[in-house]
Amino acid sequence: MTGGKNSPTPPVAEKRIVSFDGGSASEARVVRPDRYREIRMPASLGPRICLGAGYSYAPLGFGSGGWTVDTSRFNRLLGFDSRTGDVECEAGTTLGALHRFLAPRGFFLAIQPGYPGITIGGCVAADVHGKNQFRDGNFRSQVVSLRLFHPRHGDIDLSLSREPAVFELTCGGLGLTGTILTVRLKAVRLPAASVWMVRQPLASFDGVLDALTEIAPASDFLYTWHDFTRNGPAFGKGFVVRGSFASGEEDLASSSGGGPCESEAMALPFRRGRFFPPLLNRHTAKPFNSLYGLLQRIGPRRRRVSIFDFLFPVARKMFYFDLFGESGFHEVQWIVPRGAVPALSRELARLLRRFQTRPTLASCKIFEGTPALLRFDGSGLCLALDFPRGSDSEALLAALDGLGRDLGVIPNVAKDSRLPAAAARAGLPGFSDFRTRLLGWDPDRLYRSETSERLGL
Ligand SMILES: Cc1cc2nc3c(=O)[nH]c(=O)nc-3n(C[C@H](O)[C@H](O)[C@H](O)COP(=O)(O)OP(=O)(O)OC[C@H]3O[C@@H](n4cnc5c(N)ncnc54)[C@H](O)[C@@H]3O)c2cc1C
Repeated sequence: MTGGKNSPTPPVAEKRIVSFDGGSASEARVVRPDRYREIRMPASLGPRICLGAGYSYAPLGFGSGGWTVDTSRFNRLLGFDSRTGDVECEAGTTLGALHRFLAPRGFFLAIQPGYPGITIGGCVAADVHGKNQFRDGNFRSQVVSLRLFHPRHGDIDLSLSREPAVFELTCGGLGLTGTILTVRLKAVRLPAASVWMVRQPLASFDGVLDALTEIAPASDFLYTWHDFTRNGPAFGKGFVVRGSFASGEEDLASSSGGGPCESEAMALPFRRGRFFPPLLNRHTAKPFNSLYGLLQRIGPRRRRVSIFDFLFPVARKMFYFDLFGESGFHEVQWIVPRGAVPALSRELARLLRRFQTRPTLASCKIFEGTPALLRFDGSGLCLALDFPRGSDSEALLAALDGLGRDLGVIPNVAKDSRLPAAAARAGLPGFSDFRTRLLGWDPDRLYRSETSERLGL
């Protein structure tokens, strides 16, 4: 298929896109522009949504029946100021590419999600977080400014001082406010090219919040791992991982800032299930957790890893996601208010016992922030749970929605491809505010995705 009167100028392809968790698939009409006049698609072409690298667990970049605008060719670095650390790039630039540029120059982005193939546009639109949210906040806090295109408004420069309301709506706005063309970011000095990782055992889930709160002030990065397939007092047994820069111990200029990054053709959203049968399922989840826990316990308690491997630990472990096979997995991610953590610990153990589906991964971080609009931001314990898709996994998730509502959690819309509109409305205090403001900015609601339709945005 090629461009015609009612098609965008660059060639259009029908492409099957699957959300990263395997839960939502769509034959999308994809356009992949590489010129600014092409990416500025007129309103007459109808509904569209931008696709970054497709690494959102939820279908945020496709699925409404309109155009999917693949931004991957907009991946140029536009400028860097070595005095201030300000770096400007096109929105399709990946975190890995930016890191490879910045690290040898002694800089890095302080806030990054865990995979190098993710794009800057995707990071802004989902207002992502890293393993240091408690210290540095979400991705938007390092966005100096950005340029947005919307057919109704043209190109518009946004920052906290220029059109702040649209800037706020766009950071965490799930791509619904327009096409992000370029982003200027504040990179910071990289204290060292490697990080000391120290693992500290946790006897059960009960002590997690106290342990994280105590360790946080002396940590650059912090997260936990838990075995939720154990019952009784050992429920959630695991460990805390603390990361601290190995300051002053090596030459930054020699740091390549490198590591593996999947090629686009092989990226999981486009190949799920092609090579692996579903080896991770409700029968194997328990031995999988036990084996992982054992390997961690017999490994060194303290080890030094490159900053690349620490920031992007999954880059060498993408096979974990392949192990779920074509059907994929579910992820639920919540910010649980501090006061509700004891009830979480009690109720979660009870709830999980009622289902055959077992978690394959459970991990926590701590968060400090203020919730607003659709953003995954707030203060409390951030919990992520993965489950294989299976016979009773949907029922388990429905039960978790109920528990989340009772505990007053904030759900991460970008991580759950089946999150019902009611759960999003109940959990996100800024949901209605976002909807009202979005309608004010774009009364025609030109930018749409499966997620925006499902949530009634
Ligand atoms: C292995 C792995 C680890 C992860 N770790 C973390 C983590 O630690 N923390 C975290 O918060 N998230 C994490 N994520 C989730 C991921 O960071 C987000 O879902 C992110 O949005 C994905 O970006 P993407 O480039 O793949 O964009 P896509 O998934 O393609 O799109 C995401 C959103 O960005 C919008 N978008 C993309 N480009 C543009 C543009 N140019 N203009 C307007 N809108 C645009 C899309 O419309 C969509 O709404 C992880 C994901 C994976 C697969």
